[in-house]
Amino acid sequence: MQVSENAVVTFHYTLTDDQGAVIESSEGSHPLAYLHGQGQIIPGLEAAMIGRQSGDKFSVEIAPEQAYGPRTEGLVEHLPRQAFEADLDIKPGETYWADTEDGEAEVQVVGIEGDQVLVDANHPLAGMRLRFQIEVTDVRKATDDEVSHGHVHGPHGAHG
Ligand code: ZN
Repeated sequence: MQVSENAVVTFHYTLTDDQGAVIESSEGSHPLAYLHGQGQIIPGLEAAMIGRQSGDKFSVEIAPEQAYGPRTEGLVEHLPRQAFEADLDIKPGETYWADTEDGEAEVQVVGIEGDQVLVDANHPLAGMRLRFQIEVTDVRKATDDEVSHGHVHGPHGAHG
């Protein structure tokens, strides 16, 4: 079966920047599963998956516009000092873990104003040209339940 609308695609990936430095990889871990056609993965990668089959290996280079978007300079978000661990010596320019609206995330501090910490609100991969090495490990038709829920069930999908 080929990847098309409402296929469940399972794949391994290695993501590198355009210098070849590894950013993230599923190697040695579980592959990723997604429901094709639902915008669950970045647009450039979803487009590159169309027509692929189980066993296919390919690499694709994706421009920021088809990935995490361009960087917006000066896009700043305020976090309370309490969002960071108490004993941290927070310095502008450094990256720390903090409790954000989207859960725990790594944020780059751009400044401190009283008890507010200013962080760069861009996605860490915004503005970057990304290279994916992909190995498709399975393609199957989604079940009716999966299509109506809009996500993958079973191992590594939603509901465990
Ligand atoms: Zn469900």
